[in-house]
Amino acid sequence: MEYTCFNCRKIIEFEKKLRKIRCPWCGGKILMKIKPKIVKKIKAR
Ligand SMILES: [Zn+2]
Repeated sequence: MEYTCFNCRKIIEFEKKLRKIRCPWCGGKILMKIKPKIVKKIKAR
């Protein structure tokens, strides 16, 4: 799973098994999951 740190906005990869999730750079505890990009194709006329 990939997360972004809320503070420094770096991308961090964690395994699912880990309970404690912290940003290794700033030590921030607030991490946001990176959602897979959903691209919608719309026909433009
Ligand atoms: Zn951070």
